[in-house]
Amino acid sequence: MEILIVGGAGYIGSVTNYFLEKQGCKTTVFDNLSLGYKQAVGKTPLIVGDLENFHEIKNALSSKRFDAVMHFSAFSLVGESVNNPLKYYKNNVANTLNLIKAMIETETKNFIFSSTAAVFGNPTEIPITENHPINPINPYGWSKSFVEQILSDTFKENFKFVCLRYFNACGSTADGKIGEAHANETHLIPLILKTLLNQNAKPLKVFGNDYETQDGTCVRDYVHVLDLAEAHFLALEYLLKGGESEIFNLGNGKGFSVFEIIKAAEKVTGKKVPLEIAERRKGDPPVLIASSDKITKKLGWEPKFKTPESIIETAWKWHSENPNGYKEN
Ligand code: UDP
Repeated sequence: MEILIVGGAGYIGSVTNYFLEKQGCKTTVFDNLSLGYKQAVGKTPLIVGDLENFHEIKNALSSKRFDAVMHFSAFSLVGESVNNPLKYYKNNVANTLNLIKAMIETETKNFIFSSTAAVFGNPTEIPITENHPINPINPYGWSKSFVEQILSDTFKENFKFVCLRYFNACGSTADGKIGEAHANETHLIPLILKTLLNQNAKPLKVFGNDYETQDGTCVRDYVHVLDLAEAHFLALEYLLKGGESEIFNLGNGKGFSVFEIIKAAEKVTGKKVPLEIAERRKGDPPVLIASSDKITKKLGWEPKFKTPESIIETAWKWHSENPNGYKEN
């Protein structure tokens, strides 16, 4: 199997590349290295190119016969998307159009797209199934839901897709070699671990303790990046066997509050997290928990990392062994 991994130098893309190679897939990474790292790509052939330039992605897709494309290359910060919506619509929507067009022109048939729980906005029902209304509340969520719509309008017999709507991706490979490395880190687990490694001289800010949840802090569905990677592999097999285009939610199916995650991190590391209670962060829904029943029933996917401790153990290995992230860009 030949797979083109667009955005394969980024966090989820590089872990998926690592996982697919272990399953015997032949992969090629296409990435502009704006946010990704060469080191995360390892020995996989890397095409440095930009989806903004149609000919670059078309040339890459013409370089060999690819059985499928996985598309991870997108901006994903909610706050940034609110402040700079055009940046998100350009990269996440317009550039994805170039990729879809290049796939159709090169008769590349199978597409696996990284979508997000942010398409649901403030959920009206928990757990969130695929039937929950789509109602994004920020440009990031809209950008992903637009692509879902474009895909459902574009697919035909010879162009099939699976959209995977990730909940809160976290963790690293078990060997601690590939993990989360963002220049501007905003996510809870890496920020807790960086605080413990003393990189953020300041205490961790807990964004709100007055939500209507069991302990007042927001509840999220934390899903291990290797479990996400496995879902991509199963989606690939599904499409290659002739499966119809589908959209799946992808989370652990369990929710943990910010305080519960902090406690789990303290248990794993044996260190106390210095923290302060801060204002609520704009746009944070109180609770987001996935129903992953559909992907379990249809693809046989089951998360292997079920507890926050098991997730944080891998993340801690990565952060403590690579406190400054990757050595080379
Ligand atoms: N959070 C927090 N302090 C931080 C970062 C995040 O309290 O420094 C909270 C955030 O408000 C949310 C949860 O942790 O309720 C997960 O946030 P993250 O940014 O990791 O993921 P998101 O749910 O926004 O995709």
